[in-house]
Amino acid sequence: MAQFSWDNPGMKTTAKSELFRELPSVDEVLRIPGVETLAAAHGIAPVTDAARAVVARLRREIASGLLTSSALQLALTGIASAIEGQLRQALGHSLRPVINATGVILHTNLGRAPLAKSALAHIRETAGRFSNLEFDIDAGERGKRDTHVDRLFRSLLSDGAISAHVGTAASAVQPEPALSESSEPKRQSPAEAASSVSTIVVNNNAAAVLLALNTLAEGGEVIVSRGELVEIGGSFRIPDVMAKSGATLREVGTTNRTRVTDYEKAITDRTRLLLRVHRSNFEITGFTEQASTAELVALAQKRGLPLMEDLGSGALVDLQNFGISGEPSVLDSLRAGVDIVTYSGDKLLGGPQAGLISGRADLVARMRSNSLFRALRVDKLTYAALEATLLAYVKRDHDAIPTLKMMRLTKEEIGKRADSLSAHVRSSKLSIEITNGESVIGGGAAPSSVLPTRLLALSCEGLSADEFSARLRASDPAIIARVEQGRVLLDLRTVFADQDPVIAGALERIAS
Ligand SMILES: *Cc1c(COP(=O)(O)O)cnc(C)c1O
Repeated sequence: MAQFSWDNPGMKTTAKSELFRELPSVDEVLRIPGVETLAAAHGIAPVTDAARAVVARLRREIASGLLTSSALQLALTGIASAIEGQLRQALGHSLRPVINATGVILHTNLGRAPLAKSALAHIRETAGRFSNLEFDIDAGERGKRDTHVDRLFRSLLSDGAISAHVGTAASAVQPEPALSESSEPKRQSPAEAASSVSTIVVNNNAAAVLLALNTLAEGGEVIVSRGELVEIGGSFRIPDVMAKSGATLREVGTTNRTRVTDYEKAITDRTRLLLRVHRSNFEITGFTEQASTAELVALAQKRGLPLMEDLGSGALVDLQNFGISGEPSVLDSLRAGVDIVTYSGDKLLGGPQAGLISGRADLVARMRSNSLFRALRVDKLTYAALEATLLAYVKRDHDAIPTLKMMRLTKEEIGKRADSLSAHVRSSKLSIEITNGESVIGGGAAPSSVLPTRLLALSCEGLSADEFSARLRASDPAIIARVEQGRVLLDLRTVFADQDPVIAGALERIAS
């Protein structure tokens, strides 16, 4: 639509050009006292950038006919604070800390596992200066970046590592019985295999699966159960990753039932790998059947094929002791005789985003020499965080790992904190009830396992639950809550204890 009016065609254009004349230049703006103060505080260059952006915005508004002369005068009076706002936006971080009060421990949208303090310290110590990332200090020559964590994985995943499991109940986890009818003499026993376990690190578990499939099965077939063709949030789909790896997916069984004989019948001379995928984020219940790991191990050994398991979450401790069942640990899988296990660094392991590939040293060595490995490798920040996290496991200092600590919190401990938080909020507009509820692990782990918790169930006079939750998100730092049945629910399981007073303060402010 034309911007001028038929009644007085020349008027708008004249008015606009006058407004343009009233608009100060960037140089003039920089001489306004309030703006000079900003330049003294933040430096002339960023303030000039901000002034340029604000003036350009005003020019656009004039051009589109949005500004009258008096509106422009008003805007010019407040130009220093407009520039200050622009500066705050331009120089502030987009990635910011938030308070996770959802009770979802591994929340993919909220950055999954928070790092241990020792991991942060190790990043600070090694990343701000030079490090021996790929340098062998003793020999004075080039080294390998994976040596820093491979030794720790070796000790955590070796046969004796069962003691690394939490508590004494872990000793109840017995290795799968040795397989009797193995006709492959060159193949190691599960115990031997476990003692020569190697681990390499890539960017995330999706990359780990891609690298493993490409190395072991490019140009051949991989047998997978139809019940395990999973999609994990963030568009990780087994069939898609398989296609990118250059391997062909050979689906067997049905969605709800797959027997070991289904795998066996599908094996041809094109078969390179048997793949099991952990059903991380869903369950199939009812009329179901799944080949056991022991059956798949036996079949793989009989046919001389490697067996790989995409565990996804990959715990390094026995989660039975945390009241969580159905999450096999990496060690359980290796001890059962699985050749290659892939898992995430920032799920149950509680470390940085990474994809870990652990298993038979000969197969891992092939992956290491695949050129894809170079493309998917991780940087020193990841190695630093991972090394420190693994050291906490080696020291059995599980409470140092925030994810594990949050899983271990009891309903009573959380309830006490909820009581004390609620006692610190005195607003008649706010109604607080403390109720029983459930936290979840999230991050594609233990879909059916919930942890009993105590929830703060809140409502605020004059605000709907959605408005209330939006106000919480608008606090600084943003507080992310659940909304259920017209109430805002806060689960302190995922809140760091030193953030409880911050939440109390935000509630006071919102309800004042
Ligand atoms: C989470 C998950 C993935 C993807 O892992 P990322 O580290 O997010 O790339 C793959 N497979 C399974 C079974 C998972 O649970």
